[in-house]
Amino acid sequence: MHEVLQRLENAARNAGRPSPRLLAVSKTQAATAVAELAAAGQRAFGENYVQEALAKQQNLNAPGLEWHLIGHLQSNKAAVAATAFDWVQTLDRAKLVPLLAAARGDDQPPLNVLIQVNIDDEAGKHGCRPEDVPALAEAVAAQPRLVLRGLMAIPAPDPDPEGRRTAFRDMKRLFDALASRYPQADTLSMGMTEDYAIAVEEGATMVRVGTALFGARSRDSGLGIRD
Ligand SMILES: *Cc1c(COP(=O)(O)O)cnc(C)c1O
Repeated sequence: MHEVLQRLENAARNAGRPSPRLLAVSKTQAATAVAELAAAGQRAFGENYVQEALAKQQNLNAPGLEWHLIGHLQSNKAAVAATAFDWVQTLDRAKLVPLLAAARGDDQPPLNVLIQVNIDDEAGKHGCRPEDVPALAEAVAAQPRLVLRGLMAIPAPDPDPEGRRTAFRDMKRLFDALASRYPQADTLSMGMTEDYAIAVEEGATMVRVGTALFGARSRDSGLGIRD
């Protein structure tokens, strides 16, 4: 973890930007692996599946962690997700907005929401189109139980991570427009193990890193409980 934090800091300093937040992506990792990073001071963890996250949370005795949903959210899982997570980074359609808002607990602070953007316009990929961001943002901002924190993207795979720089730049432009309208929108979530330094150079305020922190995921190990 120290190495990743160091690289993040270097990339930010070289680009003249503030250090981004590190989200540790713990999908398919055991609760014990999460506990280890938590003991080392890591606070924010990202999970792709609602059920897997719930199971892990129940197995952990580590209060004060912050849980982010970074996988596609099915409508029938929205109510559970609204209470089990602190952040939902994958809001990509209007239908989810009232479902999340209605289910967020009255005893909980408002749910932090990022709008996921399909920035490369990939067919069959989740995320809204860039031109849909303003309407979605307005819908989220109108809900007192939700707080619009910004944008998230997963650029198209490219054998050369440098190829994703354009997508990161496009995201930054969209994010700046959003932030100028919504002061609470302070988070641009982009960059993973292969490309987080590039994402930071282009303005990411949060990177989502799994492999570089936990090691390679065993392919379909069965550890991940699918929704
Ligand atoms: C798995 C995943 C990550 C982390 O990927 P690594 O390459 O292991 O760092 C980040 N974001 C999302 C949405 C993911 O599904």
